[in-house]
Amino acid sequence: MKKIILCKYGEITLKGANKSYFETLLRTNVKRRVSQYGKFNIYSMQSTLYIEPMTEDCDITGAYEAAKSTFGVSAVSLSYETEKDMAQIIETARTEIPRHLRGLRSFKVEAKRSDKSFPLTSPEISAEVGGEILDAVGGKPGVNVRDPDTVVRVEIRDKKAYISAGQQRAIGGMPTGSNGTGLLLLSGGIDSPVAGYMLAKRGVRLHAVNFESYPYTSERAREKMLTLTERLSDYCGEIQVHIISLTHIQEVMRDAIDEDYFTLLLRRFMMKLSCRTAAEFGCDSLITGESLGQVASQTMKALCVTNVLADRPVFRPLIGMDKEEIIAIARSIDTFETSILPYEDCCTVFTPRHPRTQPELEKVVAEEAKIDFSALEDEAYASMFTVCVGKRGRH
Ligand code: ATP
Ligand code: MG
Repeated sequence: MKKIILCKYGEITLKGANKSYFETLLRTNVKRRVSQYGKFNIYSMQSTLYIEPMTEDCDITGAYEAAKSTFGVSAVSLSYETEKDMAQIIETARTEIPRHLRGLRSFKVEAKRSDKSFPLTSPEISAEVGGEILDAVGGKPGVNVRDPDTVVRVEIRDKKAYISAGQQRAIGGMPTGSNGTGLLLLSGGIDSPVAGYMLAKRGVRLHAVNFESYPYTSERAREKMLTLTERLSDYCGEIQVHIISLTHIQEVMRDAIDEDYFTLLLRRFMMKLSCRTAAEFGCDSLITGESLGQVASQTMKALCVTNVLADRPVFRPLIGMDKEEIIAIARSIDTFETSILPYEDCCTVFTPRHPRTQPELEKVVAEEAKIDFSALEDEAYASMFTVCVGKRGRH
């Protein structure tokens, strides 16, 4: 029995004149993700994307799961192809559909004919197929035409008929690449991978920048950050990670400035280097995992002190979220267990005992003037190297 995967797209259908652009992007993304499961023909019709296996050995389950987790797909279902003949449609419905209805309370059948020469009308097909399925499941679940748990769809098209059941919710969002490119400030913590995921879900293509402080931070910390990048790239394709060393600047700051300002100055420094990286790699925004009030450097005033240096929008999708809410997403995207590995981050090297939580910008700038930051900035930027992380491994 030939099975075809049907994908519904959510917001793309609202895009009017640009719809075909979004559709093409989604088709390309789905194609890339399902290609590892065999040879498929992928085409769109009437706001539905069809994934049709071309050979016997295609892994339909693998492709189904891959499509379900592709940004831009809002629901997926499996469809059975049969000849355009009532006896065959009924036989397929009776043998294939009952297992999709297990555990449900009700269903209904909805038929649609694009081929108007088919001898039965849509309501007649619905009634007949509905009755047969009801008989095959022994009345459980029952039929409920007003508010069913699921809808079994029968479609009579040009060449064949299709029966599908059990539409499942998919990941949603917008196709990767449809909403520009952003630079994610990626640490090894819980928050920044979640922030990256949230923007990626809106169609943003990601680059990442990571600051390290070797040997105060370890190889293992870098490895952990790259593992997190791999998780993200599962959803949004290859990510270039730009790694910058802050070792020298941190040592200079430790010896020259008031300890209480250490974290703030470091964050300002990260902001400048991030903007430079974003400019070089064509990223129109920065993305951070900051959440209001979570730590000293994330009070309203502290955020202002770093934000004034930004030369492009800084997106902070977690700003109004509680830690528990953030952790729930981290678990769902499978980054949490990696994020909680206990390796140090450059922000935890030389941390002040009494960080400023209500800093005044003038005082911060005065403290900063004690050091020649521009030379250190050039030196740090020159230390940058890039790792590409994606399906083809790292290179
Ligand atoms: P996270 O869990 O993402 O590390 P956090 O709650 O520990 O966040 P901070 O350490 O104050 O908070 O960092 C705030 C944000 O600054 C991070 O979410 C991340 O976007 C960025 N950031 C922090 N450290 C680094 C780093 N070493 N490299 C790149 N970005 C960083
Ligand atoms: Mg952190």
